[in-house]
Amino acid sequence: MSMPIEYKEITIERALGNLGALGTRFWTRHCFDPYINCGFNCIYCNTSTVRHNDMQESSVQVCAKVNAPKVLTKELAFLKQKGIVSIGLAMDAYQPVEKELGLTRQVLQVLKDNDCPFAIGTKSDLILRDIDIISEASKTSPCIVSLSITTLDEKLAKQLEPNAASPKNRLNAVRRFSDAGVTTGVWLSPILPFITDNDENLAEVLEAAVENGAQFVLGGALDMRSPVGVQNFLKKYYPNLASTYEYLYKKEDGSYSYYPNESYLYDLYKRFILQCKKFGVKSYMPHFYTRKQALLFYIRSFGLEHPSFPELVSLLNYVSPSQEILQTINLRSKGRLFGKNLLQALRYFPH
Ligand code: SF4
Repeated sequence: MSMPIEYKEITIERALGNLGALGTRFWTRHCFDPYINCGFNCIYCNTSTVRHNDMQESSVQVCAKVNAPKVLTKELAFLKQKGIVSIGLAMDAYQPVEKELGLTRQVLQVLKDNDCPFAIGTKSDLILRDIDIISEASKTSPCIVSLSITTLDEKLAKQLEPNAASPKNRLNAVRRFSDAGVTTGVWLSPILPFITDNDENLAEVLEAAVENGAQFVLGGALDMRSPVGVQNFLKKYYPNLASTYEYLYKKEDGSYSYYPNESYLYDLYKRFILQCKKFGVKSYMPHFYTRKQALLFYIRSFGLEHPSFPELVSLLNYVSPSQEILQTINLRSKGRLFGKNLLQALRYFPH
């Protein structure tokens, strides 16, 4: 359902958020969102303050940080070490208002002019407008583009992400960026239990991603931190699933958890990995909320005695890459040299 969107211009004093030096499982050092809130109105959004509680009168106010290019220019001049800047980590940087304002484009131009690497994730093919800046920037610094695609079913996508680009158009963006030589991938996220988690849906998205040149795929289960939008969606389209979602996500205190219960999650991610292998996805990674969850998953599912390279890389995304851990894994993998491969893989998982 589309909701009215109000726009407001704001000014900021600081732009870059610091994610810590390699302290994040996404391998990005900084983050910046040109907008606060988002006009795509995805039913599962947990970052935008879309008011989902009354579907009749809901609205969202999007704020554009109009002085961001200036502030960013100043900050980059003083930045000692330019790590990858994650753009649109929380709010989509190519949401509808961007077409008119061109704020994200200005931000990318500043990053490019300062040789600062960046990673962008979006649900919009409006990103194609900036292919000139992004492909130019990626010649000198590692720049990564990710398109979020949960299903190829156009009708379902419209119900889930009312104002976002169609899956077909998002795939076209993957193709165009990949052809332009930019490291490009797909976020198969969020995966909705018993709606988009079946093998057929996973296979369709993964096959299309590979066919269109995606170099990596990140898989992620639905996060139910803000359950109201999902609950309204279920009430309308899948009333029989309401109690199943409660079983998977509801905690004893009545609140909803980030991720579904672990046996469901581990089964989903194991199937995701099998499908990635089947379709020849170059690099893939299921997304976990905690390191403990990730470690348990990999140990239970694959063991650590003879880890295959993709699983090893995925695991490394959830631990700090300290020398000690690298040495341990080197020993465990019986001296197999993976330093070069590891560096290559890091290119694919900045986000
Ligand atoms: S695109 Fe992302 S930020 Fe925007 S509404 Fe959807 S989930 Fe929220």
